Formats: sequence, C-alpha cells, structure tokens
Amino acid sequence: MGRIAFVNGRYVPHAAAQVHVEDRGYQFADGVYEVCEVRDGALIDVTRHLDRLERSLDELRIDHPGERSALTLIMREVVRRNRIRNGMVYLQVTRGVAPRDHGFPADVRPSVVMTARAASRAKADAQAAAGIAVITVPDNRWDRVDIKSTSLLPNVLAKQAAREAGAYEAWFVDGDGFVTEGSSTNAWIVTREGTLVTRAAEHGILRGITRGVVSDVAATRQIRVVERPFSVEEAKTAREAFITAATTIVMPVVSIDGHAVGDGKPGPVALGLRAAFHDGVERLSA
Ligand code: PMP
Repeated sequence: MGRIAFVNGRYVPHAAAQVHVEDRGYQFADGVYEVCEVRDGALIDVTRHLDRLERSLDELRIDHPGERSALTLIMREVVRRNRIRNGMVYLQVTRGVAPRDHGFPADVRPSVVMTARAASRAKADAQAAAGIAVITVPDNRWDRVDIKSTSLLPNVLAKQAAREAGAYEAWFVDGDGFVTEGSSTNAWIVTREGTLVTRAAEHGILRGITRGVVSDVAATRQIRVVERPFSVEEAKTAREAFITAATTIVMPVVSIDGHAVGDGKPGPVALGLRAAFHDGVERLSA
C-alpha cells in the first residue's frame, strides 16, 4: 500500500496530493505547522503540539481549521492509513487559497495538509550512540531581504497593518529609525533641494526593478539621485515621497503615520516620473 496524505478534507495518494497554486502557504509562507513523533503507533505529546499550533494560528490570526478532536482524529487516521509504527506526522495549516495579494483575504477557509512518514528507531539509536557534529552559522532568519524570496510572512503582516490603518503601504523602519522599504515596494523621498533619495540596495532592501528604471529616468531629466538611508522624520518633512514597484509604477505618498507630506497632495516630481516612466522601459510584445 502506498503513502496517503490528507489534503483539505480528503485522503489522497501521496504522489497525487496537491494544493492550489494560490495557496497562501505557497505564495507567502503564510502558514504554520507542527511535527509530532509517532512511537509504537502512538502520537507523542499531541496536546502540547496542538497548544503550540493554536498559539501560532492565533498569532497570525488564521482561523482554527476545526476542533482539536477532529484534527487529532485525522492525525491518527493518517498514521493508521500509512501504517506508521515509528516516525512522524506532519500537520500544516495555511491561511487558505485566495487571489495573490499581500493583505489578509476575506472569507477564506484555512488549508489543512497532513502527511506521515516512518523512521527507523534502530538507525536513530545508532546515531545517538555515536553522537553528531554541528556547525555554526549567523542567525540571519530572515534578513536576506535582498533575495526575492517567497518567505513573505513579515511583508504580509505589515501590509495587513497598513490596510487596517487605512493606508496603502507600510514602510519598514530599521533599528536606527531609518526607512528600509515598503512591504512590497521601494521607498523614496524628494528633498527640499529636489534630490531623490532612496536607500542603497545592499542587503537591507530588495533591489527593485522599477527603482532602477526610475533612477535612470531621473538621470535623463537632470534630477539628482542619492542612495542613502533616510529617517522617518526626514520623510515626514520631505517635499515629496513616493513608492515604486512593477505594479504601482511611481505612486505618490501624501501621508506618513498620519502626517501630511508636503502640502498633502501628490507632488510634481513623483507625477513627472510617473508620466515619464514608460519612456525608460524595455518592451517585449506579449
Ligand atoms: N520591495 C519589496 C519587498 C517588494 O516585494 C517589491 C515588489 N515585488 C519591491 C520592493 C519593488 O520591486 P519591483 O520594482 O521589482 O517590482
């Protein structure tokens, strides 16, 4: 008998077990999981694991996928159907399937996936008898935001915070009070002298494609661009501010944390760059 997985209410052959491409777990890492040991056919510490699962779900405001008793029943059934005596059962819950958009979707049911796998106790015991080696690595979970990774959970939570505050975007601020970038956009200001300022694209931000094109377009219009950090205070008192991304192009920012930027209206520099943007792009007919 082959392996069986549980996917959203159905027990299916492991090889055919699939989730939707727009599952939030797949798109955003917007999900949580638990792994329980199976020993002599019994689930080990299931109460503690489900306690932690519920805590993780609550922290992310993902609906509970069902009663504990129902989840436990499915875990036992997955173990039973896979004939696992020793090994583990894996349980994942994501926010669900919805059109790709960072903020939380409305009216979505959490997705539930469970799998089980056997593990040799003799092998683990032999390993324990010999002992194992470790190496050390910098704890960079996850400061590699320069990589356009799908680990977007912090971005999801930031975008949702913006929506709940009646804003379009959230700007991340580093430990020194400097703006890094938006949850899905790069951040810019225009100084009193008319200089564009955006953070240098090293490890602290994603090197936006739109950001690069805007820099080029600015150069052709004799607008100076300086790559340096700017503080929240500097942004609030800047002449203009704007964000860039492939989906927003150049979008003027008129308010930061409730404080009007400039005269509280989109400024000429941002609107000029927005109008000129497509002069600077590469076009490939679809
Ligand atoms: N920063 C982040 C975190 C983003 O997700 C995005 C958009 N994907 C950007 C910046 C802007 O990048 P681009 O101009 O390539 O769309």
